[in-house]
Amino acid sequence: MASVKSDAFVFFGATGDLAYKQIFPALQALIRDGRLDMPVIGIARSGWSVEQLRQRAHDSLAEHGVVDQGAFAKLSKLMQYIDGDYNDGQTFARLRAALGGAQHPLHYLAIPPSMFVPVVKGLAASGCAQGARVIVEKPFGRDLKSARALNRTLHRWFREQDIFRIDHYLGKEPVQNLLYFRFANALLEPIWNRQHVASMQITMAENFGVQGRGRFYDEVGAIRDVVQNHMFQVLALLAMDPPVNRTADAMRDEKLRLFRSIRPLRPEDVVRGQFDGYRKEPGVAKDSTVETFAALRLHMDTWRWAGVPFFIRAGKQLPVKCTEVMVRLKNPPQRVFDDVDGEAVNYFRFRLSPDVIISLGARVKQPGEAMKGRPVELLAHRHIRKAMEPYQRLLGDAIDGDGALFTRDDCVEEAWRVLDPILDDAVPVHRYKPGTWGPPEANALIAGAGGWNDPRVEAPEG
Ligand code: NDP
Repeated sequence: MASVKSDAFVFFGATGDLAYKQIFPALQALIRDGRLDMPVIGIARSGWSVEQLRQRAHDSLAEHGVVDQGAFAKLSKLMQYIDGDYNDGQTFARLRAALGGAQHPLHYLAIPPSMFVPVVKGLAASGCAQGARVIVEKPFGRDLKSARALNRTLHRWFREQDIFRIDHYLGKEPVQNLLYFRFANALLEPIWNRQHVASMQITMAENFGVQGRGRFYDEVGAIRDVVQNHMFQVLALLAMDPPVNRTADAMRDEKLRLFRSIRPLRPEDVVRGQFDGYRKEPGVAKDSTVETFAALRLHMDTWRWAGVPFFIRAGKQLPVKCTEVMVRLKNPPQRVFDDVDGEAVNYFRFRLSPDVIISLGARVKQPGEAMKGRPVELLAHRHIRKAMEPYQRLLGDAIDGDGALFTRDDCVEEAWRVLDPILDDAVPVHRYKPGTWGPPEANALIAGAGGWNDPRVEAPEG
């Protein structure tokens, strides 16, 4: 069913970091593509004029995109700025006036989580929530209890179908390709189950630290920052059943079923790590036990996946920057050739960044008398071309009212249910050296499933 298009774009946090890095480039791209032609209203409390906001947008585009003269001129014309505190009712009265005859404004909360409630209340009290949609940025709570409280707050004033929780990972081209590759082909489905899959693992490696965001990171850690949201979304796309159609709810119903099947984590299924030197980062507590690395072993109680272990590993200061999925298939039932010993012969490898790869591992015979072989990869897909930026796709979808790439309340809560028992200091944190693959303890977690796949990132050609 077609949804009505929003008729005003309001962004709280107009002077903030996220607006600078992501929102202005996305808005310009949407205008360039003819998808955005409505008032664009920024709100913050920096005492700025609309001219200063335009200048900020220009600087943002110069640094994080390209200035497209035509589209930028149009964005400048559409832009308005409202100055005021989010705790002050007058700010929302001014917004109401600026919205004029707009019937379906889209309010983007690009603000610290502590400001969610005052802003949502202000929108409701001023009538700005009427007929409106709202975009919420992660974090969606910091555990099951707070996630439920946040959802309750949002639901007091917005219907679930009008709430768009952004997980920008879902807007990434290669992540969408996971879904497409699985369900646009017939060859995977017969083997995508416990009969043929030995294990699956996802690694999200970053070769940098907290990059000056120590204060933010020390309240969050790897599990809350990337596992609960990004990694769980990738996991869902890998393991969920086919959706009955492409509507937002059909997609999210299958994800929910999958999340519901995951057993709550036990301490023995989790290894946490912290890189040496983290505690010296500005803004980080001297005795911090927050993890910069996490490795998890998950079990799903479904007909499809019973007994198949799933692993997630995410960390900072690892040897490379790369996100990669490895699906190991079971080996042939009999060893006809004795040159293969133990390791998984067949696998699917999905690289999600920095480049995009889909490949299938196999063995072929080496030329010569001996029946000896070597591993090869059949490359199904590889590209490094820059695709549409996630924020452009996601903001465009939210304007159109299409929630398929956004997270639903029940899915968020189910993900927290799995993680809740191991949050904070439920398991000890081990030290690791920057430039290594995390604490050695993480290897024991996956020893029975052939070990971690450490992605190798080749230098770009040319
Ligand atoms: P910033 O701290 O950079 O920006 C906060 C914004 O909120 C500023 O525009 C600030 O205005 C405004 N603000 C805060 N309090 C008030 C208030 N009481 N009244 C009026 N304005 C107020 O945050 P980020 O942009 O980094 O993050 C925003 C959200 O996005 C957070 O939820 C974060 O978790 C999420 N996020 C951020 C990412 C990033 O890369 N930065 C990535 C993914 C998610 P002023 O400057 O005028 O005070």
